[in-house]
Amino acid sequence: TLNGSSESETSHDKLIGGLLKAGFDEGSCVSRYTKSLLYRKPSPYKPSPYLVSKLRRYEMLHKRCGPGTEAYKKATEQLDENQVRSSDKECRYVVWVATEYGLGNRIISLVSSFLYALLTERIILVDQRKDINDLFCEPFPDTSWLLPLDFPLMGQIDSYYKDYSRCYGTMLKNHAINSTTIPPSHLYLHLLHDYRDVDKMFYCEANQAFIKNVPWLVVKSNLYFAPSLWLIPSFQTKLIKLFPQKDTVFHHLSRYLFHPTNQVWDMVTSTYNDHLSKAEEVLGLQIRVFSTPSGYFQHVMDQIVSCAQREKLLPEVATNGSSQVINTTRSKKLKAVLVASLHPEYSDELRKMFLERPSSTGEIIQVYQPSGERVQQTDEKLHDQKALADIYLLSLTDNIVTTERSTFGYVAHGLGGLKPWILYEPKNQKVPEPPCVRALSMEPCFIRAPLHGCQAKTIKTTHFIRPCENWNLGIKLV
Ligand code: GDP
Repeated sequence: TLNGSSESETSHDKLIGGLLKAGFDEGSCVSRYTKSLLYRKPSPYKPSPYLVSKLRRYEMLHKRCGPGTEAYKKATEQLDENQVRSSDKECRYVVWVATEYGLGNRIISLVSSFLYALLTERIILVDQRKDINDLFCEPFPDTSWLLPLDFPLMGQIDSYYKDYSRCYGTMLKNHAINSTTIPPSHLYLHLLHDYRDVDKMFYCEANQAFIKNVPWLVVKSNLYFAPSLWLIPSFQTKLIKLFPQKDTVFHHLSRYLFHPTNQVWDMVTSTYNDHLSKAEEVLGLQIRVFSTPSGYFQHVMDQIVSCAQREKLLPEVATNGSSQVINTTRSKKLKAVLVASLHPEYSDELRKMFLERPSSTGEIIQVYQPSGERVQQTDEKLHDQKALADIYLLSLTDNIVTTERSTFGYVAHGLGGLKPWILYEPKNQKVPEPPCVRALSMEPCFIRAPLHGCQAKTIKTTHFIRPCENWNLGIKLV
C-alpha cells in the first residue's frame, strides 16, 4: 500500500474508479497501478458502473476465447475450412492490423475497434509484428491481446485492401451479399481514410446484422470511428448506458487499455520528476508541422505565442521601461511548459523568450522538451517509445494546446481528460486569426465520418454529435 492512506481509497485510485482489475503482477508493468499517482488531479470523470461491469465481463470472454484456448483453436480451424460451424459461435473476433501510420493513428483506431468489440461481444486481438509490445503492457488479465504469429491469415493480411475479394465494401459493390448468403468465416473491413461509400455501409444497422455472423473481422483503420457507432440505433442504446457522459469514451477506454511498458514509464516518470513535478501549473504544447518541408517556422512560433497569451496560458513578457512593476514580494509562481514536437527549435525559442525578459506577472516560466526527433521514424522502437512518452507527459499537464487534425494531439488530450486549445492550420505562411480555438470536448474528431449514407439524417439531429471545431467534414462526441 502507499503512504498509509486508507486501503480502500488507495486501491480505488490505483484502479481508476474501478476501471482496472486488481491482481496483475505489479513489477512487470509498473505504470498500470502507479500512473494515477502522477496525475496532477484525479480525473473528474468516473466510469459508469455499467462500463465497469461490462469490462469485467469482456475480460472473462477474452480469457475464454483468447490465444491458447480450445475455443481459439476451433475458431481458427474455421478459417482453414472457410466456413462457419454453427456449433461454435460463442467466440468471435476483431483483428486489429497495425498499418503504416503513426502511433496516434494506431491508438485512435485501436480504441474504436475495441469499442466495437465491446458492443458486439467480440474479443480484440492486436497485430504484434510492429512494436506494440515494446510500448504497451497486456491490458486483459490471465490472457493475451496479441494475435499469435501463427494466425492462419497472417501471411495475407498485409495485402488486404479495397480490392480484396473478402473486403466487405467490395463484396457489396459486387452484389456478392444477399439475404441468402452464408456468412464467410472472415471479412476484411477497410476503414482507412481512403475508404469508399460502400465501405462506409459498415456503419448501417442493416449491414451489422450480416456482419454479426462472421466470426473473424480483420480491420485496417487509422480513424477514430467511435462517434459513428453511436449513430447505429441498436448500439446507441448500449452506449448511453456505458457512457452516460458521452464525451468520455476515449478518456475511459484509453486509460483502460494503454499501460506503458516499464521502459516507456521510466522515460515518463524521470521527465515528470525532474521537470514538471515542482511546478504549480503545467502547460502542454503539442506542435506538429504538417507543411512540406516541415521544420521551424517563425509564423508557427508566433502563432503559438499568440494563442497562449491570448488565452492567458502564458504571460506577456515585460517590455523595457514599461509601467508594469513586478511585485517581487509576492512569491513567484513556477509554471512549467512541456513542449512536444519533432523540432527542438520551438522550445529553444520559447525558453529564450522568457530567459531574456521576465514575465509581466512575475511568474517563472520553465520550458522543457523531452525529445526532438526531427523526422518521423514509425516502427523504430526507441523513436516510438519516445513518442508514447511525449503523449503521456502531455496528458499529465493542466492545460494543453494541440495542433489541428493531429492524432498525436488527440491521444494526449483524450487520455488526459483535457479540453484542448486547437491551433488552426496556417495558410500562406501567416498566423491565422484567431490563432486557436477551444475544443468543444476532449474527444478526438472522426475526420472522415460517413456524412451522406444511412446516418445522414441522424447526424444532423443527434445533439451529442457535432461537426468538429475546425473541420466540418468530421464529427465528434460532445
Ligand atoms: P499525426 O500524424 O500527427 O496524426 O500523429 P501520428 O502519431 O499518427 O504520427 C506522427 C508520428 O511522428 C508520431 O507517432 C511520432 O513517431 C512522430 N512525432 C510527431 N510529433 C512528435 C512529437 O511531438 N514527439 C515525438 N517523440 N514524436 C513525434
